[in-house]
Amino acid sequence: MVRFAAQSSQLMQPVSKRFRTEDVDEEDVVCSSSLPLPPLSPHPTHVAEGARSNNGESYFSARFDPDVLDCNICLETLASPIFQCVNGHIACPSCCQKLSNVCPSCQKPVGIIRCLGLEKLIESLHITCKYAEYGCLQMPKFSLKKDHEVTCKHMPFTCLTGGGCAFVGQMDAFPEHFRDNHGFRTIKLDYGAWLTVTLFPKNDSFVLLKTEDELFVLCNGVQPLGSALHVMFFGDVAREDDFEYELSADKGKTKLKFAATARSVLQTDKQGSGFLVVPWMSEKNYIVLNVIIHRSRVCFR
Ligand SMILES: [Zn+2]
Ligand SMILES: [Zn+2]
Ligand SMILES: [Zn+2]
Ligand SMILES: [Zn+2]
Repeated sequence: MVRFAAQSSQLMQPVSKRFRTEDVDEEDVVCSSSLPLPPLSPHPTHVAEGARSNNGESYFSARFDPDVLDCNICLETLASPIFQCVNGHIACPSCCQKLSNVCPSCQKPVGIIRCLGLEKLIESLHITCKYAEYGCLQMPKFSLKKDHEVTCKHMPFTCLTGGGCAFVGQMDAFPEHFRDNHGFRTIKLDYGAWLTVTLFPKNDSFVLLKTEDELFVLCNGVQPLGSALHVMFFGDVAREDDFEYELSADKGKTKLKFAATARSVLQTDKQGSGFLVVPWMSEKNYIVLNVIIHRSRVCFR
């Protein structure tokens, strides 16, 4: 069985049909008799090239326009089942339903005849992760590329502390970076378990909260009247429903509580889910805050 794998024309360029290099309109495709695929040359040759890997498996590379893998109607990425009308116009299941099974190109019925050739091609296609330039060596199946990329541990983040810090790194690099460059702590936390954190407003503008597999940041925005507190996570914005958190603090006899879904640190509107304001108490120069983070049902990828 022949399998296909797509890779960028330059290994240091992220592979995405949305971010093409200026002079190349197609992506390289590698077709191999079996996986794992042999490493590709960083300077791939021409349109198609036959080769044989060390273990004797044959493969070849080619370039193609990745737009052919999109539904022509809604422009979403195609996945099985893929339908075609009698004239061969392609439509995804959702478009067939929305258009009442009428092909928008030729008005013939669509939604019954499958395009098995294209389904087979897409099923066999493996493609480089868009974070390949940051060290990801994985080549997920084309149909699973987006799922992989939203959880890829090679995703880069810029430092969110402001103040001119230009650091860009992967999630795992931030505890050390925060400690060495900004003096901010990292505290371990278990999902579903309350953690009590004492915050000193002048020193704790950010506290990293590390779980077994994710990194969160407790943001302590120091305001004239008190602290504005919220939690964000280091991850793709597509995962913003994955984590919920609660904050609580005692202010005299009053208990202050707040619950929200965690936003991604990649969001420009970082306080979009709101925050808890804990007013200063004249007799204390610190805040005792309780934090709990829950994984929502959808986040078990
Ligand atoms: Zn569609
Ligand atoms: Zn048609
Ligand atoms: Zn990746
Ligand atoms: Zn920094």
